Amino acid sequence: MPPTGPATPAQVASVAAAAPDLAAIDAVLPTCRACPRLVAWREQVALEKRAAFRGETYWGRPVPGFGDVHARVMMVGLAPAAHGGNRTGRLFTGDPSGDFLFAALHRTGFASQPTSRSRSDGLVLTDLRMAAPVRCAPPANAPTPQERHTCGPYLARELEILDPAVVVVLGGFGWKAVLATLAEQGWHVPRPRPAFGHGVELVLAGSDPSVPRPPVTLLGCFHVSPHNTYTGRLTPAMLDDVLLRARALAALD
Ligand code: SF4
Repeated sequence: MPPTGPATPAQVASVAAAAPDLAAIDAVLPTCRACPRLVAWREQVALEKRAAFRGETYWGRPVPGFGDVHARVMMVGLAPAAHGGNRTGRLFTGDPSGDFLFAALHRTGFASQPTSRSRSDGLVLTDLRMAAPVRCAPPANAPTPQERHTCGPYLARELEILDPAVVVVLGGFGWKAVLATLAEQGWHVPRPRPAFGHGVELVLAGSDPSVPRPPVTLLGCFHVSPHNTYTGRLTPAMLDDVLLRARALAALD
């Protein structure tokens, strides 16, 4: 990977703010090297590989957003998985979290097929785009607050450009990141900040009454990680309910 991409937090903020559209963000993201710990980890994982994927070439770079560039619904998770998105180059693709999620997205009309195996599997998302607060796979799925802060401008610019009616947030990490971002972008986010919970619905209005803007609704949903789905904490029916609620709020039916 040539060192041509953003290499400092200031450079991330600059290139993200200058991106004219989602395609520009998607193009610059895979070149980013601004978080030394995550760059080292994503590349180490890509070299060492999991035995089951020994014959594959891992992506090993930041993973851009995926989905409909005109979506009314945005989905925000946590970060790519080491052997999922960091292997395939597409969020939630090629891991158990994605198996659970894309089956639900297909049942609820957002995905063209119920499986997500590779970037070239033909899967199309309609009315939904997915993103993450951190775009490089972190050790133990645990980015630091500094890494979330450094990567934040990418998500902020995506939210600004897409201007979704609904944001489905998978888990508390994403919830905090999205609330912080929307507060910076002029939405009235109460303090103390509303807590994350499965099924929590939060409607935000603009903080400046002289600037009319349609509200944005956040929907909380337990993350689709095996930790939740294998234990029954998040069931297919629970996820379907959230996604169908997103469809209704976004007036997609
Ligand atoms: Fe760049 Fe984000 Fe990856 Fe940090 S986490 S290196 S800011 S893409």
